[in-house]
Amino acid sequence: MLVRIVIGMSATGLALAVAGHRFWHISRLVRSGRPAPERLKNLGARAEAELVEVGGQRKLLRWTVPGLAHAFTFWGFTILLFTIIEAYGDLFDKRFAIWGFGHNPVLGFIEDFFMVAVLAALVVFSVIRIKNAPARRERASRFYGSHTDAAWITLGLIALVMITLLLYRAAQTNTGDFPYTWWAFASHAIGKALHPLGAGVNSDLETIFVILNIGVIVGFLVFVSYSKHLHISTAPLNVALSRRPIALGALDKTPDMDMENVSEDTVFGAGLIEHFTQKQMLDFVTCTECGRCQSVCPAWNTGKPLSPKLVIMGLRDNMFSQASRLLGRDGSESEEPETLVPHTIEPDVLWSCVTCGACVQECPVDIEHVDAIVDMRRYEVLMESRFPSEAGLMLRNIENQGDPWGLGSSKRTEWTESLDFDVPVVTDAIPDDVEYLYWVGCAGALDERARKGVQATARMLHRAGVTFAILGPKESCTGDPARRLGNEYLYQEQTKANVETLNGVGAKKIIATCPHCFNSIKNEYPALGGHFEVIHHSQLLEHLISAGRLSPGRGYQGTVTYHDPCYLGRHNRVFDQPRSVIDAIPGARQVEMRRCRERSFCCGAGGARMWMEETIGKRINMERTDEAFTTGADVVSTACPYCMIMLDDAVRANAKEEEVRVLDLSQLVEESLSNPAT
Ligand code: SF4
Ligand code: SF4
Repeated sequence: MLVRIVIGMSATGLALAVAGHRFWHISRLVRSGRPAPERLKNLGARAEAELVEVGGQRKLLRWTVPGLAHAFTFWGFTILLFTIIEAYGDLFDKRFAIWGFGHNPVLGFIEDFFMVAVLAALVVFSVIRIKNAPARRERASRFYGSHTDAAWITLGLIALVMITLLLYRAAQTNTGDFPYTWWAFASHAIGKALHPLGAGVNSDLETIFVILNIGVIVGFLVFVSYSKHLHISTAPLNVALSRRPIALGALDKTPDMDMENVSEDTVFGAGLIEHFTQKQMLDFVTCTECGRCQSVCPAWNTGKPLSPKLVIMGLRDNMFSQASRLLGRDGSESEEPETLVPHTIEPDVLWSCVTCGACVQECPVDIEHVDAIVDMRRYEVLMESRFPSEAGLMLRNIENQGDPWGLGSSKRTEWTESLDFDVPVVTDAIPDDVEYLYWVGCAGALDERARKGVQATARMLHRAGVTFAILGPKESCTGDPARRLGNEYLYQEQTKANVETLNGVGAKKIIATCPHCFNSIKNEYPALGGHFEVIHHSQLLEHLISAGRLSPGRGYQGTVTYHDPCYLGRHNRVFDQPRSVIDAIPGARQVEMRRCRERSFCCGAGGARMWMEETIGKRINMERTDEAFTTGADVVSTACPYCMIMLDDAVRANAKEEEVRVLDLSQLVEESLSNPAT
């Protein structure tokens, strides 16, 4: 007995010292980031996330087979905490029972069930990894760039935990020390196989395997603390501290851009690792390298150098390589800080992001890639003045003319000229008999193709009796492209001016056609004093149709595939209403693309990419339209002027404009009305 105690507790003490030192080191690194006190608010939602995301394994279960395997491993480890306590108790007292649980046969059954389930899950993981092994060096593999060897060690260690546990319990069934009845089915079954060895050998086996079990567990603890499997300990915390319900929609931080508060120590964005927040530092050490984000990234999938996984891994490596400096160790003052761009993150990586949010949506441990990428862009733009030259023209146009193309405010009402009714242009205040302010957006007002969608929307609203007015020349860019590019200063200048205009005319209810404007005004303007009720035109169309104020006709007959704009779908969860509008058109048959709804694939225009050259890899809009073509649809419908332009460009580049049309939802509804339903 004494030998068991000495060996078991010595191994435990040693492992706790090594792992504890490592965890302390990592916690100090994480805490070297900027404080993020807002992440400690809203505790109810955080507790719910813990239950649903961690306990329920919600995101992981979206990928059925690996999700189930992971869920059983996670639940198994949670349940098997009981067996760990029992193993330590057994070192001291062979009749040990956990207080409050005793030796209830149900506990024995659950423990055995999860031992078997975890072993089965390990087989599934192994098959997945073996199947992926030849391909893992290819970009198409989600494991490309991951440390896959460490994953095998982890699988091996988990298997050893289970096997030693089963063997020690099985041996106990033959020594009379096993406290559970036949409900502990696996232990008893293996115990039968060991029975012929006799009581003496089984007694030795019991001692050997309980010590081995404890040894493997504490060895696993040490291994975890030094490997990517650190996520086992950090993921629950990372999920609890993540933005709820998801880190999409508004960007995380709205920095104070008041130039009166700027000193020479002020840093905008993230240029060094310590400029990130503590939550972001926690993100970096939590990445499991599973590659789910990489597998859905439109930039990566079209041959660009950006992989959200490799970005997070690179930032983690930067953090560890800068540890001495971050922790202020002796002599580290003289160390040169390693700037993030270009040392860790190549400029082409940084500027390839379309901020579509697919990575954030997919990440099982709630890592917030988009915020980190925009933080690095902010530093590049505001502190270093480094950004793609084409984007510079867009910024100057917004600054000088109020729109990214530099066409000027005088053209903002041209789209109304072909309408057969008047659209009131607000000069002082929105008239009392006008319900909505229609925020047209720069593309909708100024681009020929996007205008068609805006004109159709206006006609549909007019037909349904919706009263609306526009700001005309008073409308200016929301600032979204400037913000996603990293020019927070210009974004805030635009926002403040727009909020003043909107408040000045008494705007309360706003219709937006552009999902980028919709997202900015709805989710980001409140931080700078703009509080409005914002509805996207697809939502309003759905409402008008379901209320019987607009009845689609039979003028359109064909097959439609709907492309979810990222900033309407993933960023704002508007998936159903646009589809309901199409379903309400009697002659429209709706087919889905392979990647749809929350897994939709970007058109390539977000994140200010609309104004940057796309010279690396396949064009994202071409990839998306190729997917649309495979559905056989004759109409690709969408609800975003950017998507309209990008998809239409790609259809024309494929010389398919005779076969496939790109139409806004409003245009589709309007076309259906050319033959009213009887
Ligand atoms: S936001 Fe989109 S483009 Fe950017 S890294 Fe994530 S998945 Fe890739
Ligand atoms: S960032 Fe998230 S999704 Fe991407 S590899 Fe890491 S854990 Fe997986």
